[in-house]
Amino acid sequence: MNIQMLDLRGQYRNIKDEIDNAVASVIEEAHFINGSEVDKFAGELGSYLGGKYVIPCANGTDALQIALMALELKPGDEVILPAFTYAATAEVVALLGLVPVLADVSPKNFNINPEEIEKVVSEKTRAVMPVHLFGHSADMAGVMAAAQKLGLKVIEDNAQALGAKFHFSNGESKSCGTIGDIGCTSFFPSKNLGCYGDGGAIFSSNAYLAERLKMIANHGQKEKYRHDIVGCNSRLDTIQAAVLRVKLSRLDTYTAARQEAASRYREMLADVEEITLPFEESFSTHVYHQFTIQYRERDALKAYLASKGIPSMVYYPHPIEAQPAFRERVVKRSSTDVSVRLAREVLSLPMHTELTFEEQKYIAETIKSFIAGNK
Ligand SMILES: *Cc1c(COP(=O)(O)O)cnc(C)c1O
Repeated sequence: MNIQMLDLRGQYRNIKDEIDNAVASVIEEAHFINGSEVDKFAGELGSYLGGKYVIPCANGTDALQIALMALELKPGDEVILPAFTYAATAEVVALLGLVPVLADVSPKNFNINPEEIEKVVSEKTRAVMPVHLFGHSADMAGVMAAAQKLGLKVIEDNAQALGAKFHFSNGESKSCGTIGDIGCTSFFPSKNLGCYGDGGAIFSSNAYLAERLKMIANHGQKEKYRHDIVGCNSRLDTIQAAVLRVKLSRLDTYTAARQEAASRYREMLADVEEITLPFEESFSTHVYHQFTIQYRERDALKAYLASKGIPSMVYYPHPIEAQPAFRERVVKRSSTDVSVRLAREVLSLPMHTELTFEEQKYIAETIKSFIAGNK
């Protein structure tokens, strides 16, 4: 068995003709930057998200940076973000001279705990950035209520949960990334909607913000050679847009394949008390960017799996406050114990659209034999 953490080659083999044709037509047309595929993709993603403005850009980190720039935050303004996330969320805040303020996360869904927002807010706080980690929504009803009460803008880091839905208590459901003022995503190859290089996008329902976001991503210009605001250069290549159009049409099928793989893991690992399986809150669907378990002796389990030919990954081994780049820049006003523990105990198992029952059975049996020998 040759188990992959992620099987992009296997996925490509199943859509090869369509992808090859899409890429070849861009090359034929030779309109590599701002070709028609880019607008078409933006329109299709906007419809997929329920009628939103979509501004494609060069990667997910740029998307977050452009979102912060569009909100006109000033150096020294504070932005609240989860203490357990990928570094990019904190990085863009620090890069713009803003102050990252850490909020602890829920031990169940790994995402920002809305109650913590009120604990760490100050009169300098202007925005909050919930991250929908591993494919599961943050408690957006709680986040939006806190943001409204405290007068904060909301930027959703939706790099890992494209296609996930948040269910409000009134029965309404919205796509992750379309609930706050601005949503951001990444098309890094390993993401649920990944291209064949770098890519990203920014979403908003607000026409004024959408126009600013578009200008900022394009050197601050609306009209060619007239620069109204200081922006940057962040574009999605036409070839990547062509790949993304093919894959967006299959995103729901891919999500279903991940969800099936997740429920197989659940059945196979249900009786292993020592391991905490990923939690599914009633307020969110889970699109399983990762299938992340928690186990006290994570490093030993990871090493054992590796010795049996099973890859696994630690997302993320260090909380933001332990990163040398951020140690002295972040503000911590409340305990981040959950984040610190998660960094020690999380382990993501192989998860992708091509994962088979037999592979998962071998993974589950190997985990069980390790736990049995480690009691
Ligand atoms: C991948 C990711 C990003 C950054 O996206 P890039 O396209 O790699 O720049 C930001 N935040 C989170 C949570 C991510 O998973």
